[in-house]
Amino acid sequence: MGKIVAGIGISHVPSIGPAYDKKRFNEPDWKPLFDGLAPVKKWLAEEVRPDVALVVYNDHGCDFGLDRVPTFAIGTLDEYEQADEGFGLRPLANVPGDDKLSWFLSQQLVYNDFDMTIVQEMKLDHGFMVPMPLLFTHDPAWSVKTVPLVVNVIQHPIPTGRRCLHLGRAIRKAVEAYPHDTRVAIIGTGGMSHQLHGERFGHLNSEFDNYWLDKIESDPEELAQISHTELMSKAGAEAVELIMWLTMRGAMTEKVRRVHRTYYAPMTTGMAVISFVDA
Ligand code: FE
Repeated sequence: MGKIVAGIGISHVPSIGPAYDKKRFNEPDWKPLFDGLAPVKKWLAEEVRPDVALVVYNDHGCDFGLDRVPTFAIGTLDEYEQADEGFGLRPLANVPGDDKLSWFLSQQLVYNDFDMTIVQEMKLDHGFMVPMPLLFTHDPAWSVKTVPLVVNVIQHPIPTGRRCLHLGRAIRKAVEAYPHDTRVAIIGTGGMSHQLHGERFGHLNSEFDNYWLDKIESDPEELAQISHTELMSKAGAEAVELIMWLTMRGAMTEKVRRVHRTYYAPMTTGMAVISFVDA
């Protein structure tokens, strides 16, 4: 049977990618971030040992153009290549896909009222590729297969936090109905407080970020009631990406046990990782 074995909320700031590739782990600007992430990666590799990383993320207009924007989409490939966002490809192997699980989840989610767009050609941008090597070993082959699940947070109207939380619940039900022994870690990735344009460029709200980290653990329903307007006004326009953390949380039990929590806000955006197992 399928089983959700961990849930992880994590930011996906683009600059982390090159810092990781250049091994800037001990440079003063990066050390607090990487020191916070290392125990999570070790825990996943040694204790959780997932077979699959189900990554709930957003494309940033790189692979999905604005001509067609699905609200929710699921990749069904057996291997995924990186997308080139204009800075060249990172030194990372293609990520193997669990296509059988993808097709099973697609069917279950559609039959449970989540009308997924089924994607058979897909490349992964930094929304996916930044968190992956921070969490999973790749030496050079990846230690997990993946199912990528894309949420539209780019082109309004975007789905509500409430809908994202309910999607997580449907994902859990679907994973548990999977008739093969498969250990699934679900990742919800999106930037915390930040705004990258206009008069409020650089807006950061650490108080809000820490409130989010508190509530994603104890009361995700409260977070799911926050409107996009409120989220964007408090934490910056791009903080609306946080709704994807609610999908991860919806796939966990109502009460959870937190294993890790770290937060670092050096400059223009809050960076965090939080991990849970079922209580
Ligand atoms: Fe993003």
